[in-house]
This record gives sequence, C-alpha cells and structure tokens, in this order.
Amino acid sequence: MQQYDYIIAGAGASGLSLASKMLHSPLSEKKILVVDQSLTPSNDKTWCFWDADNPPFKDLIYRKWKKAEVSIFGNRSIERLTNYTYYCLRSGDFRNNILSNLKDHPNFDLLETPIKELSFNGSSPTLHTDTNSFEADYIFQSCFNPWDNAEDQPRHPLLQHFLGWEISASKPVFDDSFFTLMDFDQTFKDGIAFIYLLSWSKTSALIEYTIFSDSLLNKKQYEEKVSLYLSNRFNLKPIDYSIERKEFGKIPMEDRPHKPWYKPGIFNLGMVGGVTKPSTGYTFKRIQKQTDAVVGDLLSKGELQPQPPSKKRFKAYDLWLLQIIDQHPKDALQIFNHLFKNNSLDDIFRFLAEESSIQDDLKIMSSVPYIPFLRAIWKTRSRLREL
Ligand SMILES: Cc1cc2nc3c(=O)[nH]c(=O)nc-3n(C[C@H](O)[C@H](O)[C@H](O)COP(=O)(O)OP(=O)(O)OC[C@H]3O[C@@H](n4cnc5c(N)ncnc54)[C@H](O)[C@@H]3O)c2cc1C
Repeated sequence: MQQYDYIIAGAGASGLSLASKMLHSPLSEKKILVVDQSLTPSNDKTWCFWDADNPPFKDLIYRKWKKAEVSIFGNRSIERLTNYTYYCLRSGDFRNNILSNLKDHPNFDLLETPIKELSFNGSSPTLHTDTNSFEADYIFQSCFNPWDNAEDQPRHPLLQHFLGWEISASKPVFDDSFFTLMDFDQTFKDGIAFIYLLSWSKTSALIEYTIFSDSLLNKKQYEEKVSLYLSNRFNLKPIDYSIERKEFGKIPMEDRPHKPWYKPGIFNLGMVGGVTKPSTGYTFKRIQKQTDAVVGDLLSKGELQPQPPSKKRFKAYDLWLLQIIDQHPKDALQIFNHLFKNNSLDDIFRFLAEESSIQDDLKIMSSVPYIPFLRAIWKTRSRLREL
C-alpha cells in the first residue's frame, strides 16, 4: 500500500484548484497524489464568474466583459457593471496549465485511472483503483455523490440543464462588448428557460439554451431553440455558420443540506461538496472559497474544520426560489422580471455572490412580488430547519 500525505481524487475544477493552491503554498512539501480517469485536458466546459477586482487564475482568463444584457417580457437592456467584471475561463486551458505545473514538481504524483472506491479502514482513508490502493491523511474527493446512499431525497429535484453551440459565423453579427446573461423564453412553461450568450468576437460566440426544471429535454430540442435564436435575432441561417463545439451540462439545484465528509478523512470538494449555489448553478468562484479554506486550515491547524458554504439566510432565499421555480414557474418569471427591472446588475451580483448586507437583501426582497415568497416560506418550513 502506497502512502501519501494528501490524495486529490478528481482533477476537475475543484481538485485542480486545490492542487494549484497546495503547489503555491508550504503544503507543496507534502507528498500529494492527484488521480483522475482522464488527465487529457479538453475545452469541454466554459467556467464564468464575476469578481470585483481580483479574479482567481487571472493569467488564464479567456474573455471578460464590463457590460451585460438581460431581456425579459420584451424589455431588452444592456447595463454597465460598475463594481464587477464578468470573467470566463476555458476548462482545457485551466487543466492544461495546472497539470503541467504539477508534473514538474517532485512532490506531486499524477495517476490517470478510474477510481473504484474510497474507503476508511478504521485508521486511514484509502483510495482503490483496479490494481492498487493508496492511503493518506486526507483524501479530497470530487468524484462521488455523497447523497447516493442516503434515504434523503431532494424536495425540489430541479436541475439547471443546458446545451450550447460555439459557432463561427460568416458575417460580423455579435457585439463582443457585452455578454447576454439571460434572454428569457416566455414560451417555455415547465420551468424557467433562457438563452445565455458569450460573444467571443464579432463572428464567434457560445450560445446556450438553459433551463431550470426537473427533467431534461432531448438534445435536438435544445438545438432547435439555439438555431431559432440565431435565425430570429441575428438572421443567421445554418449555412451562415459552422458549429465548432457543443457544450452540454446538467447541474443539480440541490436543496439538501451539504455534507462535508464522504467518509472519515474523506472531504467532499466542489459540486459533490455542495458548494454549487442552488438557485444559479454558479460553482467556480465558490470552489475557490472552499479550497482557500482547506489550504488555510491545513496550514494553520494541520486539520480541517469545514464551514458550511453559505450563511443560513442565503440558504433560505435559495430554497424559497427553488420552491417557486418548481411549483409556480409563472410566478418565478415575474420575480425575475421585477428583480431585473428594479435592481442594478451590480446589486444582483452582490446578492447572488452572498456578499450583500441584510439591508441590501431587504431591498432586493421588497423589489419582487412577495406573495410567492410567503407561500414558499410556509411550504419549505421543515426543510429549512434541516439546512
Ligand atoms: C458544461 C458546464 C459548464 C459550467 N459552467 C459554469 C460556469 O460558467 N460557472 C460556474 O460557476 N460553474 C459552472 N459549472 C458548474 C461547475 O463549476 C462545474 O461543473 C465544475 O466543473 C465543478 O467542479 P468539480 O471539481 O466539482 O467537478 P469536475 O470539474 O466535474 O471534476 C470532477 C473530476 O472527477 C473525475 N472523476 C469522476 N469520477 C471519477 C472516477 N470514478 N474515477 C476517476 N476520476 C473521476 C472527472 O473526470 C472530473 O475530472 C458548469 C458545469 C458544466 C457541466
């Protein structure tokens, strides 16, 4: 059995964020193993987030915008962000850069193989592959869902699901000075649906049809929406563009309490660590907060003292919105309408980043219809106690 100080099981956004932070800290003196079923980077995901002045991995940023567009009920507006900038990283660039730094370091071992199981043998957490087992003081895992064996089920089993095309157009139709955060599709009745568009240049963009609902569509249905949008909005027919890449994703909008530990000594990182913001699916920035805290704890105390990813009041707002999207999607659309009409995007981003004060929250809450929230508060009262 091989021994390590730490094992990072899963080399995606969270595993590699942690590995990179360990590499650039005194923890690089430890012996660390990074395991993933694939260590070949590809640009299959686009990770975006907003930040005031100090974005993580700033040398790897692919694009950034200071203006954002929102369109709902025929009101299209483009707004300048004052405090925040919206940043975008490509997963292939991120993985490529971090994996090559790790390869060059003598204390990091990389292993490309499927992980079969993570166990605790009474004294140490252990990672098992088909042929080997590895022990460590801590395993940080982003591979296995910690709720798999639980009887507890989500009350509002919503997903954020999307399919998008990265296209190259034969004519300059995109305005790359802004990105489209949400262009709502009022024809969609089973949840909330909108187009999300990242303009890379005047002739290329990523256009995603995104849905908050409890069931996936078949891939053709998302693609028809993207194709229709390109035709209606930009007068782009299929002959006018080529599809360079497709991006599909489904992100659980989780209403279950977060579980810091998978098993003793095995810490849940990233999406399976419950850091995804339930009401938006944004995860990347929250992974940075979680991995900063892990490194901080290991350096200062030598052990982990996990903190919940959100304060109770933000968990409550998320839960209420999930209940409304799940049970009353028409009301949810009205809430988004009032939210964007009555608040600046900076204020909304501050609120969604959970950087707002209670006064800021009250201002936002009083700007949207309150009856759906009163109903949601009543309906979610037992779940709220568990969070
Ligand atoms: C297409 C897409 C786009 C997204 N865009 C955004 C965005 O713009 N902004 C944002 O904030 N969030 C976004 N997210 C949400 C979130 O940030 C990402 O899902 C992010 O990748 C989560 O990081 P993670 O480390 O938890 O999981 P992952 O990045 O998925 O990493 C998990 C790793 O574990 C490995 N693995 C899994 N099982 C095994 C096994 N049995 N053996 C070995 N290896 C295994 C996988 O190969 C993978 O590399 C997006 C999600 C998707 C799917």
